Amino acid sequence: MPTTRSRALVIGAGIVGLSCAFFLRRTGHDVTILDRDPNGDRASLGNAGAIAQPEVMPIAAPGIVSKLPRYLLDPLGPLYIQLGYAWRLWPYLSRFLRAANNRQYAASAESMGSLLVTAFDDHGTIHQETGLGHLLSKDGHLWVYRSPAVRDALPDWKIRERQGLACTFLNRDDLVSEEPALGPMAACAVRTNDWATYVDPKAYVMGLMTHLREQGVAFQDCNVGTLDGDTVTGTDGRRYPFEHLVIAAGAWSHRLTEQLGDWCPLETERGYNTTIPSPGISLNRMLTFAEDHFVATPMSMGLRIGGAVEFAGLKTPPNFNRSKALLELAAKYLPELNVDGGTEWMGHRPSTPDSLPVIDRASRYSNVFYAFGHGHLGLTGSATTGRLIAALVRGEEASLDLTPFRIGRF
Ligand SMILES: Cc1cc2nc3c(=O)[nH]c(=O)nc-3n(C[C@H](O)[C@H](O)[C@H](O)COP(=O)(O)OP(=O)(O)OC[C@H]3O[C@@H](n4cnc5c(N)ncnc54)[C@H](O)[C@@H]3O)c2cc1C
Repeated sequence: MPTTRSRALVIGAGIVGLSCAFFLRRTGHDVTILDRDPNGDRASLGNAGAIAQPEVMPIAAPGIVSKLPRYLLDPLGPLYIQLGYAWRLWPYLSRFLRAANNRQYAASAESMGSLLVTAFDDHGTIHQETGLGHLLSKDGHLWVYRSPAVRDALPDWKIRERQGLACTFLNRDDLVSEEPALGPMAACAVRTNDWATYVDPKAYVMGLMTHLREQGVAFQDCNVGTLDGDTVTGTDGRRYPFEHLVIAAGAWSHRLTEQLGDWCPLETERGYNTTIPSPGISLNRMLTFAEDHFVATPMSMGLRIGGAVEFAGLKTPPNFNRSKALLELAAKYLPELNVDGGTEWMGHRPSTPDSLPVIDRASRYSNVFYAFGHGHLGLTGSATTGRLIAALVRGEEASLDLTPFRIGRF
C-alpha cells in the first residue's frame, strides 16, 4: 500500500466512519476518530445485519404518493410521518416526491447497484485484516410473499438482473422445505444468494474499533460543535486541527456540512426491532416479508424482528409500540414464535430523498470529504464507501462515477 501520511480526522464512529478510518489508516494516514459517545448506541450497532447487495431500489417508488395519506393516519404502519413533524420534513419530502417516478427510480437503483457491486470484496478486505469474517453468515436470503403479488416485484427484478443479480422463485412446498418454521400465511418466495448477514453487527463494529486502536487510530470523546477548513472544535472548546477531514456523522451529518456551505436535506428514517433470545423456532437465513415490510434475522444472540420507517426527527422518544406491532405481524407468519423476553431497539437511519448516500468532497474545501446518508444500507455500503473516500483523500480517481452521490445534487 502506498503511504501518504497526513493527519486525518473522521467525525463519527459508526460503521461508515470506522470503515473510512480503516482504509485511511491502511494507506498510511494518522487517523483520529471523533465521536461524542464512541461506546454508545448508534444505528450501526442494532441493525438487521444484512449485506444486501440486491436491495438497490430507492424508497421513493412510483406509486408511493397515493399511499402517503394512508401512512399519515397509521402510526404503526410501515411508513409513518408524525403529524407534528410533517412541516419540518418538507425539504426532504418535496424532493422525495419528485424522485418517485419511473425514470429516477431506475436511475437511483442503477447508481446504488454500481456502489454495492463490490460490497462483498470490500468487506472481505476488512475481514482479511481484522479476522472478523467469521461473523458473516453466507446463507442467502428469501423475500417471502403471502399472495401472488410476487409478480408485482418483477420489474424490480429486471433491474436487478441487469446488474447481474440472480434470483430463484420458490413455490410454497419449496419454501417450507427451506424454512419449516413458516406457517400457512407464507405462499411463495424469491431467493437470492447475493446476500449475507452479520450474526452480530455490534460485535463487527466493536471488533473493527479494537483493530483500529491496535493499528494506532486514536478515538476521542468529542461532541463536534463547529468546524472550518482546518480545525474542528468540540462543544467543550477543545480544538482539533486537521489536514484531511471526513464527515461520517450519520443522521447528524448535515448539521456539520451546512457550516461548510453545503446544504443537504438529510432526514432520519427511524427503524425499530426486537431481539428475542429464545424464539422457540429457528430460521436458516434472513427473511424479508415483502408485503408487510419487515425482516427476521437469525443472529448469534437470538432472532431479530424489525423494520418500519418513521419520520419523527432526531429528538422524539421512541414509540416501541412499533416494535410490538412488528412482533404481532411476525407471529402471523411464524406461528410457533415465542416473543417473550425480547429487547426493543430504535435506530436513526441517515436518509436522503433519493436513497443514495453522499460520497463527495466539500464544495469549498478540497481537504474535507463527506460519507453519510446510506439509509437502509449503511452496513452494506460502508466498506466500499471507506475505500472510495480513502481514494479521494489520496487525490486518486474513484473506481466508479461518483456524480450520483454528490452533495450538490439536491
Ligand atoms: C432497524 C434498522 C435496521 C437496519 N438494517 C440494516 C441492514 O440489515 N443492512 C444495512 O446495510 N443497513 C441497515 N440499517 C442501516 C444502517 O444501520 C445505517 O445506515 C448505518 O448504521 C449508518 O451508519 P453511520 O456510520 O452512517 O451512522 P451511525 O451508526 O449513526 O454513526 C454516526 C456516529 O456519528 C456520531 N456523531 C453524530 N454527530 C456528531 C457530532 N456532532 N460530534 C461527534 N460525533 C457525532 C454519533 O455519535 C454516531 O456514533 C438498518 C438501520 C435500522 C435503523
